[in-house]
Amino acid sequence: MMKTPYLEIKLDKIVKNTRKIVSLAAKHGIKIFGVTKGVCGDPQIAQAMVRGGVKGLADSRIENIKKLNSYGFKLPLVLLRIPMLSEIERVINYVDISLNSQLEVIEALNKEARSRGKTHKIILMVDLGDRREGILPKEVKKVVGRIKANCSNIKIVGLGTNLACFGGVLPTAENMNHFIRLVEEAESVLENNLQIISAGNSSSLPLLHTSGVPQRVNQLRIGESILLGSNLVEGGTLPSLHSDTFILGAEIVELNEKGALPDVPQGPNAFGEELKLKKDGIRERAILAIGRQDISPNGLTPCLTGVEIEGGSSDHLIIDITDVKEKLKVGDILEFKVDYSSLLRATTSPYVDNSYSLV
Ligand SMILES: *Cc1c(COP(=O)(O)O)cnc(C)c1O
Repeated sequence: MMKTPYLEIKLDKIVKNTRKIVSLAAKHGIKIFGVTKGVCGDPQIAQAMVRGGVKGLADSRIENIKKLNSYGFKLPLVLLRIPMLSEIERVINYVDISLNSQLEVIEALNKEARSRGKTHKIILMVDLGDRREGILPKEVKKVVGRIKANCSNIKIVGLGTNLACFGGVLPTAENMNHFIRLVEEAESVLENNLQIISAGNSSSLPLLHTSGVPQRVNQLRIGESILLGSNLVEGGTLPSLHSDTFILGAEIVELNEKGALPDVPQGPNAFGEELKLKKDGIRERAILAIGRQDISPNGLTPCLTGVEIEGGSSDHLIIDITDVKEKLKVGDILEFKVDYSSLLRATTSPYVDNSYSLV
């Protein structure tokens, strides 16, 4: 019997998504770095991105970078999350380029690199208002000047920005042009051109379809749109990309006709939420052996018509199958498409088995 839950990974569709994005970006002189943090740095998926034409691989976790490093990828490996002071040694060991925004961290990287006789490359991040990582625009000249003066084993290879991640600030022609002005300020201090102008993540791709991005932008770091085809600005899927790249299967362990919630006092559930069941009356309900440890309940889209997800606990997914035409039984497997947060959890959960298929 097949072990469940499983995550079927359709590598060919990931290659195709990557190719589409790589060729669209190439029209604007932009290279794509593939981001693997949504799939726990999975080397086979990274390989699919490489076949699709990415020019580098990026992940937020040093453990994932280390894994990719041991597979011998010949592309630059980029650490996306600002390094922790406690991981500086590993960053110098395994990472080709790290994103940075904190002077203390850059100084620590410099010290470690110097003690090994190495030069470490960084992309300096600027915060254009999203309020995740990045130095403030007014600090660019000062910080670049300090690094230039004090960190002889650090090479600033580029400037980067990250939008639509925390604050939901969308990339626009305006903030992109602001970004390029900051690039020019940094270059005036460095008295050198920056190689990498890294303007954002998947949320920048819709701009390529409309107004485009400034000439000087030459890199995007793309995860979700490669993995799931997502259009992060308008919702839905980007033109001619696949969203059925991952299929999650989970097994029915209970089937019962159960009514709505009993008419007794109700408080919040184990997750502090007030549950509202969608349908009243006696409904046919099933429990699947998968839970919040492995997926996020509202991040699944059932493949079978009529299946409706009501919610989940750590280990159970409660679904309403009254409207399903097929006769279901205990032991049957139901399949779902996943969103990014479910993908993240499923690929990280030791309880979900990955299976790779080429179609
Ligand atoms: C996660 C991340 C990305 C990729 O984001 P997607 O929306 O998955 O394309 C790019 N840059 C940084 C700094 C990130 O942390």
